[in-house]
Amino acid sequence: MRDSLPQEAARLSRVEAKFKEVFRKYSYEEIRIPVLESKELFYHGLGESSDAVGKEMYSFIDRDGKELALRPEGTASVVRALIQNNLCYNDRPRLWYEGPMFRHERPQAGRYRQFQQLGVEAFGFAEPTIDVEIIQMGNEVFRQLELSALVTLKINSIGSAEARAQYRERLIEALTPLSEELDEDSRKRLQTNPLRILDSKIPKTKELLKDAPKLRDSLSDNAKERFDDVLELLASAGVEYTVDPHLVRGFDYYSDTVFEWVTDHLGAQDAVCAGGRYDGLVELLGGSPTPGVGFAAGIDRIAKLCEQQQEPRYGAADVYLVPMEEVHREFVNSVAQHLRCHTDLRIREHIGAGNMRNKMRWADKSNAIWALIVGDTELQQRSVTVKWLRSERSQVSTSVENLLTILQENLE
Ligand code: ATP
Ligand code: MG
Repeated sequence: MRDSLPQEAARLSRVEAKFKEVFRKYSYEEIRIPVLESKELFYHGLGESSDAVGKEMYSFIDRDGKELALRPEGTASVVRALIQNNLCYNDRPRLWYEGPMFRHERPQAGRYRQFQQLGVEAFGFAEPTIDVEIIQMGNEVFRQLELSALVTLKINSIGSAEARAQYRERLIEALTPLSEELDEDSRKRLQTNPLRILDSKIPKTKELLKDAPKLRDSLSDNAKERFDDVLELLASAGVEYTVDPHLVRGFDYYSDTVFEWVTDHLGAQDAVCAGGRYDGLVELLGGSPTPGVGFAAGIDRIAKLCEQQQEPRYGAADVYLVPMEEVHREFVNSVAQHLRCHTDLRIREHIGAGNMRNKMRWADKSNAIWALIVGDTELQQRSVTVKWLRSERSQVSTSVENLLTILQENLE
């Protein structure tokens, strides 16, 4: 597990805040789900053949002998909560959640064992309109983060469970004679989860797949029509997309629409947000049949992508207040409180003895734009000396009343 140090944490928070703002505007409600669940929930809901459950789950036995797991994703928990609390009774909830997810993966840039997801789920809607609403929300976040040029929306339909079962047979039939030529992972998947082979990033395997049967040919007319409706609605909503006939998702629970935002700017870890429709999941986990659709965004990767943009200036503080001596502290503290109350700026007070040179070094280290200095003269006049730390501008002395004006002017 890793730490997110302050600069990265600020970046993560900024991305999270943007998602939440957009979810709010679409009137999605927050749900909080536990980090630990029964292991069974994931085995049952996500399927053992998925990497996250079969290979990557952190599970253990607790003091009561119960098998528990750190959640590898959020959807199964949201569905469990929905069923346990009867949330779909006379209602069609649209929800969002956030939090850390855990997978025992090989850590590398953009792939961590604890990572942050923010996700949405809408229950009770079978209409293509809701697929599009969900996708539109994701798109809106990328637009507002000015990442639209760095990400591409890929979309596909994987039809019903029956269609996939039929396709699975056709795919096994077509690939088995070629199994020697497949990469090792794909060869294993031929037995466990052949559809995931479509997802392979290995060039040789990709080449072999070109002549393999197409999933679309196994879809029912209804499923094809539904997919065309989704695409049409996306186009009329002005959402750009690329149909990717090889796009499949890792978990068994998906059906019909699946989608993913990918980027070329993060090396091998190219997926930043992924989701789809999962009409069978609520019933599978013991609820009454209820359609569902949602996505989960990988906040760590999106934050990493933001590094490549013109980011807002990072610093721990905006204003650093320096009392020359301890007798000036009370006044310094009252100025700090005044600023905290009347501005949105981040105000840090110097704490600790030392000479002025030393104090000013701390001011600089805080990355603040201004240092506000208070000595005997300032205390007498109830004023402060404003020193610009990031420009050549010469310092001024000002009353506390006038201080706000000076700081605000400088921000514009
Ligand atoms: P990948 O193909 O990269 O392994 P996935 O299909 O396993 O992704 P999902 O389960 O769909 O991922 O999770 C949704 C998003 O969460 C991904 O698109 C990605 O941005 C992020 N994510 C998944 N696993 C990790 C991880 N180990 N570290 C960081 N982010 C992750
Ligand atoms: Mg994965």
